[in-house]
Amino acid sequence: MSETCCVCGAPGLLIPLGHSSACPACSTQSAAEVAAVEHLRKLLRPVVRAWAGGWVEAGLSDETLRALLELEGASWASEDPLGADPDTVN
Ligand SMILES: [Zn+2]
Repeated sequence: MSETCCVCGAPGLLIPLGHSSACPACSTQSAAEVAAVEHLRKLLRPVVRAWAGGWVEAGLSDETLRALLELEGASWASEDPLGADPDTVN
């Protein structure tokens, strides 16, 4: 029985990816995605902590701030990350 890529289903040379295996192209893509997330997290961490600290002092709970972060993250799903800033478009 031959194995196939867990992402695209292609047969052939497979590289371990988590608990399964992926083809070289999907493995490379996955590594880039992981790096992008880690980079974004590193950029956002000081901003989010400063934002949260200010709003905790204003009386918002940790739970509320987590919910707001989740909503903000979800709102990015419908935006073009390279598109114009909607707050600056006239
Ligand atoms: Zn693949």
